[in-house]
Amino acid sequence: ATPTSIMVGTGRAAEMGVLFRKGDALQMLQEARIVALDKTGTLTEGHPELTDYSIGKGFIYDDVLRIAAAVEGTSEHPIAKAIVRAAKAKNMTLPMVDDFTSITGYGVQATVDGKQVLIGADRLMTREKIPLKGFQAQGDALGKDGKTPLYIAIDGVAAAAIAVSDPIKPTTREAIKALHDLGLKVAMITGDNQGTANAIAAELGIDHVVAEVLPDGKVAALEELRKGGTKLAYVGDGINDAPALATADVGIAIGTGTDVAIEAADVVLMSGDLNGVVNAFDISQRTMRNIR
Ligand code: ADP
Ligand code: MG
Repeated sequence: ATPTSIMVGTGRAAEMGVLFRKGDALQMLQEARIVALDKTGTLTEGHPELTDYSIGKGFIYDDVLRIAAAVEGTSEHPIAKAIVRAAKAKNMTLPMVDDFTSITGYGVQATVDGKQVLIGADRLMTREKIPLKGFQAQGDALGKDGKTPLYIAIDGVAAAAIAVSDPIKPTTREAIKALHDLGLKVAMITGDNQGTANAIAAELGIDHVVAEVLPDGKVAALEELRKGGTKLAYVGDGINDAPALATADVGIAIGTGTDVAIEAADVVLMSGDLNGVVNAFDISQRTMRNIR
């Protein structure tokens, strides 16, 4: 590639809100055969809402929600914010919380009114040896709808199953289709529940799913995907995406995402719209084709 054609390509991309931070990213992108995307905040809006609940015998939903919202008030996770908003919508006064711990990739734990409270994925409950009984089947059904099931345990007993739903961005579906048309294999990497991830992938026509990945597991998932030397691009928005953005042959950050992700990326999209990813590939392929 000539320096001039790369400058022209980079300039055209910038006009479309796609910032190549280095010229070689434009060159490398056209060699990529796989594009892997983070789910939450990349394929989806990243602002889940609490949509469903099921309450255990002997528990009252409002009491459980009040306790859960109090615990989640300390967490920055989008799931936590959804639970807090649900309680605020009911004008609830939240109790005091002690001994808050975030168990990354699993959920949260704290003490409320002397009771031990756990909120998180089924693997948190498995880890803490809390039987989910009928809740597991309900959670699995919610996952099949593309919602994220979560469980709340109080003093070692499963008290409720709840679900949050994070809408897919309106442009995601057409962007995935366009990436396929450009000859790319599309993969999704997420910390979310396997069933939820599968449902969303099926809806979007995504080829490959890696789910229930712990925060430090995204890099390992990428290494697995590029075994044999296949070049790949990774698209993400969060703090937990930074290592994957740095590891990928081309890291593409959503500009509406966190600064840490933007810092780690080779390409930055000015908007949250995934058509920016399509444009990045398109311009890269055209620029390199003109040179040959
Ligand atoms: P992601 O960003 O893909 O959601 P995380 O590692 O942040 O990945 O979270 C993985 C899973 O851990 C979530 O889907 C959820 O089940 C659980 N989890 C994480 N944080 C919380 C929280 N504050 N409250 C409840 N569950 C949580
Ligand atoms: Mg994300």
